[in-house]
Amino acid sequence: MSTSVNIVVGSHVWVGDPELVWVDGEVSSINGDEAEIQTSNGKMVVSKLSKLHPKDMEVPEGGVDDMTKLSYLHEPAVLHNLAARYEINEIYTYTGNILIAINPFQNLSNLYDVNMMDRYKGASFGELSPHVFAIADAAYRQMINEGKSNSILVSGESGAGKTETTKMLMRYLAFLGGNKTAAEGRTVEQQVLESNPVLEAFGNAKTSRNNNSSRFGKFVEIQFNKHGRISGAAIRTYLLERSRVCQISDPERNYHCFYFLCASPPQEREKYKLASPSSFHYLNQSNCYELADISDAHNYLTTRRAMDIVGISESEQEAIFRVVAAILHLGNIEFAKGEDNESSIVKDEESLFHLQMTSELLMCDPHALEDALCKRVMITPEEIIKRSLDPLGATVSRDGLAKTIYCHLFDWLVDKINVSIGQDPSSNNLIGVLDIYGFESFKTNSFEQLCINYTNEKLQQHFNQNVFKLEQEEYTKEEIDWSYIEFIDNQAVLDLIEKKPGGIIALLDEACMFPKSTHETFAQKLYQTFKDHRRFIKPKLTRSDFTIVHYAGEVQYQSDHFLDKNKDYVVPEHQDLLSTSKCSFVAGLFPPLTEAAKFSKFSSIGSRFKLQLQQLMEILKSTEPHYIRCIKPNSLLTPAVFESINVMQQLRSGGVLEAVRIKCAGYPTYRSFFEFLTRFGILAPEVLKGNFDEKEACIKILEKMGLKDYQIGKTKVFLRAGQMAELDARRIEM
Ligand code: ATP
Ligand code: MG
Repeated sequence: MSTSVNIVVGSHVWVGDPELVWVDGEVSSINGDEAEIQTSNGKMVVSKLSKLHPKDMEVPEGGVDDMTKLSYLHEPAVLHNLAARYEINEIYTYTGNILIAINPFQNLSNLYDVNMMDRYKGASFGELSPHVFAIADAAYRQMINEGKSNSILVSGESGAGKTETTKMLMRYLAFLGGNKTAAEGRTVEQQVLESNPVLEAFGNAKTSRNNNSSRFGKFVEIQFNKHGRISGAAIRTYLLERSRVCQISDPERNYHCFYFLCASPPQEREKYKLASPSSFHYLNQSNCYELADISDAHNYLTTRRAMDIVGISESEQEAIFRVVAAILHLGNIEFAKGEDNESSIVKDEESLFHLQMTSELLMCDPHALEDALCKRVMITPEEIIKRSLDPLGATVSRDGLAKTIYCHLFDWLVDKINVSIGQDPSSNNLIGVLDIYGFESFKTNSFEQLCINYTNEKLQQHFNQNVFKLEQEEYTKEEIDWSYIEFIDNQAVLDLIEKKPGGIIALLDEACMFPKSTHETFAQKLYQTFKDHRRFIKPKLTRSDFTIVHYAGEVQYQSDHFLDKNKDYVVPEHQDLLSTSKCSFVAGLFPPLTEAAKFSKFSSIGSRFKLQLQQLMEILKSTEPHYIRCIKPNSLLTPAVFESINVMQQLRSGGVLEAVRIKCAGYPTYRSFFEFLTRFGILAPEVLKGNFDEKEACIKILEKMGLKDYQIGKTKVFLRAGQMAELDARRIEM
């Protein structure tokens, strides 16, 4: 898109800047295809005319609340608008019906209180300042008025504010659909809200990017009855980060619940023989134990209270924290070489104490526990052999056990909450809220990043389909005049990852099933298979890395731990140990395996995740989507700092820029003639008298209202941004 045609000496323009991305200035001279610009930060720069963008001098000081109101729509205008609004604490901005939310990193007083909820309740979209409540309200209205299920997809990178946004959405939906008449006690909506602190205690941790980072993805489906009251809910979680249970790096922390428990009242700490977090191997690999402004002791009590509300009984709570304590003790069991080099024994008195504690807390036999950690049963066609593990092998076995127990505990919590809240089988209407990790590209990227980025490719495709594809298809079908705008189709990347057979996940599963595979043979297989794939690159100077060209940019993956990380199986020794625990809670976490499952051993995390994702997409496809893009304004996690380069990258990977272009260029709202007449017939009742032609009637109403620039398709009316709101306003006046 060339914008240089109108640029003359004296023009106000945006010019590229290495630091600010874009800076504004005035053209002081033009020489052929180059211009000299005096910038507002006092520099003189020379730029190609074609690289300049005109600056709209009419934009109000504090920016506009909807990008589609910008008269010049390009990158610098979008970025500048967000920055200008952020400066005055206007953290929300629409792009048509997408909400952009910039993390304020401070409590904005009154922004989320009951008065605010009251104001947004039933207000027509766009009437009030952009807000998460407005999105939730729109979803709720659409569900009530049109009988359709809705979903709200919240995305953004770590620390951008997804989880906080999700909680606000849920609070507002509970406000709208709460059972005000319900008797004292636990209402469904209370349980839905209190599931958050429980899941955060067990699934969130401090990372270098966010002090309360969700280490799992979450889709909460809130069900409503025919009166619009919340009648049930279902929570689905995705890919809890397993490795964190036994491996953390400075300055991060393990899952919150470990620290909460270590800060619990003295009698509980005594019961579980807990000392300070620094005495536990699973916690002391990092020097970070406490968080500023957050009290673990207080949060322990808050978590217990939330557990009460979601319906976890006192004795279950006791068992849950007993298991948490057991994992800490388990991590402190160390191993030394046994009689021969190939075997191992528990290292010393201290380790023996922790072994004893672990077995007491898990209520299993200490010798059986020791055996389960230090030995492996090998089943060959001829015989069953007990093989000893060396100290390293025993340590790996110990960590595997810790991770398995923790993941089963987490899944148990999710199941329990679901059972306790209950599903409403008669509900046809739901609002789903998705809080899932955004696109990731780090220095080293492993299997987790592949899964996360795969998720984002899927969601991006869903986004594309809705915002772009459906829109364009609609225009074509209706034969209205429309110049096509290109968008990046990412089906090729999806095929690369998920195609069966032959995609990366399928090839990984194959590699996991061959005993002789290594990450290098796996990588070689990828190189061979995708030699000519335009979304796959073999980086130079590597034998096992591979690069995928994602919609949001290239990511280089290190395949080193892919095979291990894709394998999910409970070691039969561990399984046998725990399923015979005298504690019914612990035994319940490990129901005995069927014979078939015992032998299949390998279960693929990648394939299971793919399936979960497919199921999620099925649900999403049956709903009307709403999008919230959270943006992290800076990496310092501090208020009032807006890092332009950073924000720009996020706008790109969130598809916001393309959406802006399409939305404005097209006709963001369309309605069938019938729908249109039902809604706006009131504006001109005279045209609906007697035998009338629907299409003609629509045109007459639009003409009467003085609207221009709309389009009439074969069966639908297509409106420009803002026109629907204009008509709605007229309707309300009547
Ligand atoms: P992750 O992917 O790591 O889970 P996230 O996108 O869920 O990250 P949040 O945990 O929601 O990020 O937000 C990070 C922090 O930013 C919060 O703990 C809070 O301090 C702050 N924050 C986010 N949104 C808001 C808001 N609307 N108002 C005030 N503070 C906020
Ligand atoms: Mg989160």
